[in-house]
Amino acid sequence: MNRKPPEHAAPPRLHIKQLDAPYRWLVQSETDPEVWYGVDLLENGRVGSCDCDHFRYRLAQLAAETKRPWNGLRCKHLVIVREALLNALLYSMAQGKHEDETKFTKTKT
Ligand SMILES: [Zn+2]
Repeated sequence: MNRKPPEHAAPPRLHIKQLDAPYRWLVQSETDPEVWYGVDLLENGRVGSCDCDHFRYRLAQLAAETKRPWNGLRCKHLVIVREALLNALLYSMAQGKHEDETKFTKTKT
């Protein structure tokens, strides 16, 4: 049970930078590393917003009308930032869990 995931399932490795708030980020363009797109996770009723063409010309209007926070309305930049945030949260949860287990073991001995 140690199969590698198929290549297309590999997460894209785009660089991201947090701006002045935890819901505001910059995401590097895949095609032009000089370009960074601004992402705001709370816009459009938590669908988010992104400066990339795909979001601005195709998804933005749908997102503004629908305001249903689901991934079908999000460009890859929004999805990447959300996943990075979730990974950070899960990492800190795992750290906390490890500490809880250590405490539990200590009280038991
Ligand atoms: Zn985008």
